[in-house]
Amino acid sequence: MTRNQGIKDSILDLVGQTPLVKLQRVTKDLKGSYFAKLEAFNPGLSQKDRIALHIVENAEKKGILTKGATIVETTSGNTGYSLAMIGLVKGYKCILAVSDKSSQDKIDLLKTMGAEVHVCPANVPADDPRSYYEVAKRIHLETPNSVYINQYFNELNSEAHYKTTGPEIWKQTEGKITHLVVASGTGGTISGTGQYLKEQNPNIKILGVDAIGSVLKKYHETGELDLNEVSPYKIEGLGKNLIPTATNFDVIDIYEKVSDKEAAFAARDIVQQEGIFCGYTCGAVLQATKQYNAQNYFTEDSFVVLIFPDHGSRYMNKIYNAKWMKIQGFID
Ligand code: PMP
Repeated sequence: MTRNQGIKDSILDLVGQTPLVKLQRVTKDLKGSYFAKLEAFNPGLSQKDRIALHIVENAEKKGILTKGATIVETTSGNTGYSLAMIGLVKGYKCILAVSDKSSQDKIDLLKTMGAEVHVCPANVPADDPRSYYEVAKRIHLETPNSVYINQYFNELNSEAHYKTTGPEIWKQTEGKITHLVVASGTGGTISGTGQYLKEQNPNIKILGVDAIGSVLKKYHETGELDLNEVSPYKIEGLGKNLIPTATNFDVIDIYEKVSDKEAAFAARDIVQQEGIFCGYTCGAVLQATKQYNAQNYFTEDSFVVLIFPDHGSRYMNKIYNAKWMKIQGFID
């Protein structure tokens, strides 16, 4: 049954089956045809609904999660929202350690959804006791009857996309897809979707999107974690200062890095030229696509799918706010 048919038992039955929409204007100067997978159509407004539901249901099946238990996670916001939503529907408490780079909107939203939120500094090493990874681990150890979702190091993360996002794109494109462009954070989306698609057609190219200030691209190229690559950046949910085991680097053909400024302008272009109110990383994905095009990755026959991870409503105080754009020096 598709997501629009019949009566659903709960909001959670609306996770997945997101639409694929042809881009009309933002890619008109690029070679090939371009289509956006709109993950904002998930009930939690992002692709993270898929992994949150898959990991929670897996824990339930294994008997690890029982009613009244606590879900603990590190999250830039979207996974937290999905977990909070699932917690409300299924009756679990949700405790989230988020980075102080997350927008206030996201934090307020998580609290509104009943989650307990701990805000942690973004610019400390991952093994620092103040980092959101370490804070979540500590809370998990101190909280009886709790489950740590651990999306960066959980193979069920990419499995969720292998089982859902990949097959959806293959079906929606009728197997015509030639390139997939995906933002890489935990790497779950790119690895799971990419692996499924490559199994259907090994010629499909999986093009990653990383942030300037993150280690992923360099690690993909060299196999080494180079902390000299690390610098502060503004895009939330993209790139990392560690190597997540949830990423299968073998599936990814290449990475491009994008800047905060170009990603912000690209997101605003998507809103204004396509009428798609999208999140910051959607702009990053479009910007990387333009960079790949400039390097001749595409031909007129290319059938390119861009995954747009989330909805613009979470960035009203950032890229869609003129004052914030001015403070960053992006506009005069
Ligand atoms: N965009 C946004 C807005 C996100 O929250 C995330 C998740 N960190 C990503 C992109 C990257 O997705 P993934 O973690 O599956 O690599």
